[in-house]
Amino acid sequence: MNLPVNPIIASVDFDADGIQHGFLKLPHSTDTSAWGAVMIPVMVAKNGDGPTALLTGANHGDEYEGAIALLDLARHLDLAEVTGRIIAVPMMNQPAFAAGRRTSPLDGGNMNRIFPGRPDGSPTQKIADYFNATLLPMADVVLDIHSGGRTLEFLPFAAAHELDDAEHQARCVAAMTAFNAPFGVMLRELDAAGMYDTAAESMGKTFVTTEIGGGGTTTAKTIAVAKRGVANVLMHAGILAGTPVLAPSTLLRMPSDACYIAAERAGLVEFCADLGEEVAVGDVVARVHDASRTDAGARDYTAAIGGIVAGRHFPGLVQAGDTLCVIAVPDDR
Ligand code: ZN
Repeated sequence: MNLPVNPIIASVDFDADGIQHGFLKLPHSTDTSAWGAVMIPVMVAKNGDGPTALLTGANHGDEYEGAIALLDLARHLDLAEVTGRIIAVPMMNQPAFAAGRRTSPLDGGNMNRIFPGRPDGSPTQKIADYFNATLLPMADVVLDIHSGGRTLEFLPFAAAHELDDAEHQARCVAAMTAFNAPFGVMLRELDAAGMYDTAAESMGKTFVTTEIGGGGTTTAKTIAVAKRGVANVLMHAGILAGTPVLAPSTLLRMPSDACYIAAERAGLVEFCADLGEEVAVGDVVARVHDASRTDAGARDYTAAIGGIVAGRHFPGLVQAGDTLCVIAVPDDR
């Protein structure tokens, strides 16, 4: 039996020296384009032998700091400062990005829940499979820049996962530290299955992820965090000339499910503590008003763990099951 072949074709040669701007071309036949394709922009910069960094933004299409930082890198990169190879895909889930959505309008695919993907699957599955089977194996260091998107907002943080292999975890933590967001987080995923993170880590790659800002937009501050982080990780890996510029950063932990506060009913959310604010056990962090009547009341949500508010829902209306708040604990406690 022949194994299915992924139809994505790269217009760049990953083994050629120089800077190339091209596409990962995914055939996609539609009513408006019979022999059409999804065109995913890619930049590859290679200068001799050395490690490879794989950099991605817009894994979720409504998260913009990564896309901006990587488009900026692609435009301004000086090949003379590169040793090894940089592969940048600023809009990893390009159809979702083009639609301003978290997930793909083509198949509903959530890129970070669909790994390892399928070479003969839906468009999002094919993109995931291309990363899993072609791009990840080339990489030594993998940086995937997320933000809160339209429905969450975070303190700007870089994150590494708790891993079984201490040496592997230490490499990831060192790269997270080099990214140098204002906050660093040792992350425990709600559900690690299907994540790009898990695919990269299962191959032993040095992996860093981020959550920078959110609300479906960016700020000058969050973009600066992403741009500095990209350059720092490349310098840390020895791929870009220079030494990482390190500003003070606070290490946070999310040690248990108590860190996540979820809405149990729909309503209008009133935040009682803002991002970055300290909360103690029992403090009201958010109140969800039942707006169906003036006397319908409100439900208070309290902190089950002390720490600082590291994430919040965005915008003002919530549904049952939405993450209202994320509380993180400073590591020195
Ligand atoms: Zn994301």
